[in-house]
Amino acid sequence: MNDLDKSIAGRLQTANNILIVSHVRPDGDAIGSLLGLGLALQAIGKQVQMVLSDGVPSSFRHLPGSDQVLRVQKTPPDLSIVVDCSDLKRVGKALDKYGAPDIVVDHHFTNGAFGTLNLIEPESPATASVLCQHMPAWGLTITSEVAANLLTGLITDTLGFRTLNTTPLSLRQAADLMELGANLNSLYTLGLVRRTLTAARYWGAGLGNLQYEGGIVWTALTLADRARSGYSGNDDADLINVVSSIAEGLVSIIFVEQANGTVKISWRTQDPNLDVSQVAVKFNGGGHKAAAGADIPGNLAEIKKRVLAETGKILKKS
Ligand code: 5GP
Ligand code: MN
Repeated sequence: MNDLDKSIAGRLQTANNILIVSHVRPDGDAIGSLLGLGLALQAIGKQVQMVLSDGVPSSFRHLPGSDQVLRVQKTPPDLSIVVDCSDLKRVGKALDKYGAPDIVVDHHFTNGAFGTLNLIEPESPATASVLCQHMPAWGLTITSEVAANLLTGLITDTLGFRTLNTTPLSLRQAADLMELGANLNSLYTLGLVRRTLTAARYWGAGLGNLQYEGGIVWTALTLADRARSGYSGNDDADLINVVSSIAEGLVSIIFVEQANGTVKISWRTQDPNLDVSQVAVKFNGGGHKAAAGADIPGNLAEIKKRVLAETGKILKKS
């Protein structure tokens, strides 16, 4: 066991009341990592508070333990853990009273190691994959419920094992998780394929507005699109996965207007020579080379102009 694993194991074993948090607008890896680690710690007798400030979206409520997720913690923890977050800002308000977390487990390229103990593996396709690899060394057992959560993180962040960072190890981990009791067919369908009618109508609004210029395919989803379609989330309903499959786009972008006066941006590229996280960082966001995001305060039309101009620069360089 390496020193970092030993230190993490020590902190986990001595703690009693453990707080685990992940990012706002949580995706399958944020939720699967939070629940996978949380349930495994409960199984060794720890009191665990699992907190997502936006709660669990209905599309992930099939996951074991999802009914335990809180929006705000109830009691002061003696150990805090952040999973799948590249910076403290992404956590929302959950750690406001405690400052830097004790442990950070993540796979983001742009992670600034903001915890006391930082387990960050940027080559890993999912935080769930990092956990899968290290939890046994921390004395934690991957039960079938833990396995279902970790497999969900792996499936969703690799878009069904097709991202560039998917490795033979990712597939072996998935096979191990299946053997431990996770149902690939149902978790894959529920996590990545099935959509509600309102989400599909919301996609229709975004697809109806698709634009193309200079290698960039983009679209915007406005608050009005959301209201008309009846979509209840504040995200793009994963439309970015469709937009980024368009052959003409070297980079694809979605702008999602938010009720709080910001615009949520998602960037994707299939080109291994491009790094969209560098553009996201310019707007105080972050992510990976192939997938990045940012929340920018301001008005949609003006933000579109700035973001398209900055994104155009990395295309010109390459
Ligand atoms: P998405 O576009 O799906 O929201 O995010 C793509 C990737 O970028 C994910 O790995 C996500 O965690 C990261 N990301 C998205 N938005 C932000 C942000 O505002 N700040 C940071 N640091 N990372 C982000
Ligand atoms: Mn992730």
